Amino acid sequence: MRVQTLGDGTPDIAVVACLHGNECCGKTAIERVLAEKPAFSRPVRFVLANETAIAEGVRFIDEDLNRAFPGDPEGDTHESRLAAELLPEIRDCGVLDLHSTRSHPEAFALLSRTNDRTKRLARATGVARVVDISYVAGGLIDHVDGVAVECGLRGTERAERNAERVLRNFLGETGAIDTLSESGDPELYRIFDAVEGTDYEFVGENFVRVEEGEVFARKRGTDDTGSPGNELRADRPFYPVLMSTDGYDEMVGFRAERVGTLER
Ligand SMILES: [Zn+2]
Repeated sequence: MRVQTLGDGTPDIAVVACLHGNECCGKTAIERVLAEKPAFSRPVRFVLANETAIAEGVRFIDEDLNRAFPGDPEGDTHESRLAAELLPEIRDCGVLDLHSTRSHPEAFALLSRTNDRTKRLARATGVARVVDISYVAGGLIDHVDGVAVECGLRGTERAERNAERVLRNFLGETGAIDTLSESGDPELYRIFDAVEGTDYEFVGENFVRVEEGEVFARKRGTDDTGSPGNELRADRPFYPVLMSTDGYDEMVGFRAERVGTLER
């Protein structure tokens, strides 16, 4: 783990990259912004989380770090010990946690705790969509006031550019650096269900409403459409979120409802 604090004083905002070692867009974004040596008028702590996993080009060494919080300094896994080391560094901060995904090319934000502070942080990212993922418990943003951002498709330049834009906007909106930024007025979605299943091809589009009766996923390698065992059909309308063909081993992704705009 690498921790770097810029600006004077004790930071109350933090930026975390690479909780997942194979999602490097946040690391790249931080490097690009800091290479310009901006003046910090408010202190910010930058954390590069799972350096061992980055070096090996893998998501994690022993277990998913984003499911390992609060962790244990004497834990059996690399990530359990790392989680215990990381959390105290950012516990009182408003956190921006940068990720990438297999599901969607545009950046969107995730909230787990919803309060005035996390809503401000979400708007500071400048993204157009925020998803309440409190249904899916267990990530870092369950343990701190923070917003996670899925910056785009893993390993793509577009994800890196999105991450950089989100980071600059966040640092500008929080008053950390002097840069052009704008507060977002995002649409809020709320996850209410997970769609389990292995080997499904997701045939819908994330954030595009699936109507009742519509097929949104099909067993891979099957073309006999209409066979009920081979396809997943919506029993009520929903918005797919984090749905993909190969993003998860045992899940297609999540079903969400659209709530409206994020309240101030
Ligand atoms: Zn991730």
